[in-house]
Amino acid sequence: AGLTDLVRSHVREIPDFPAPGVLFRDITPLLADGPALGELVRGLADVYRGKVDAVAGLESRGFILAAPLAVTLGVGMLTVRKAGRLPGPVIGVDYELEYGTARMEMRPETVDPGHRVLIVDDVLATGGTAAAAVELVEQAGGQVAGLSMLLELSELGGRSKLEDRQVDSVLVY
Ligand code: IMP
Repeated sequence: AGLTDLVRSHVREIPDFPAPGVLFRDITPLLADGPALGELVRGLADVYRGKVDAVAGLESRGFILAAPLAVTLGVGMLTVRKAGRLPGPVIGVDYELEYGTARMEMRPETVDPGHRVLIVDDVLATGGTAAAAVELVEQAGGQVAGLSMLLELSELGGRSKLEDRQVDSVLVY
């Protein structure tokens, strides 16, 4: 409840961004507030301490959360990136967007065999990005320990793409 209220009070809602009809959730006020950011990271670390061997951040805002969480937990941080950003060798997963497709990539050797990997992002919307990350971590030989999302837009049904996965969202809309 503490973290939920903390996040709720530091997220801005921006209508018609980045396109007309979209209500964008903006976490920059949360990131800019030092005590709030620290409380969030320490709170998330308390949930996962001892349960994960690595934290995988999803580009771009997932990186911002994953890195301090990994440091606090004393584990490594893995980057799951948009296509074409990582030098090879990479593995990739394509997924459907509302209009068109997207691709996420990862360097498989960053995942130690059998490591329990926590996937972290700011927003769970349709779930395509997170589902692609699950596939990448598993293809690379890791075990998905769970997914930690700051915000979940439940009407977009992302959870249904992540069946049988442990998905924790700090704040669900
Ligand atoms: P999905 O693949 O549809 O679940 O979209 C998730 C990705 O889109 C995440 O990496 C988010 O950063 C981004 N995203 C979707 N909606 C929002 C939003 O309202 N605010 C910030 N990021 C968003």
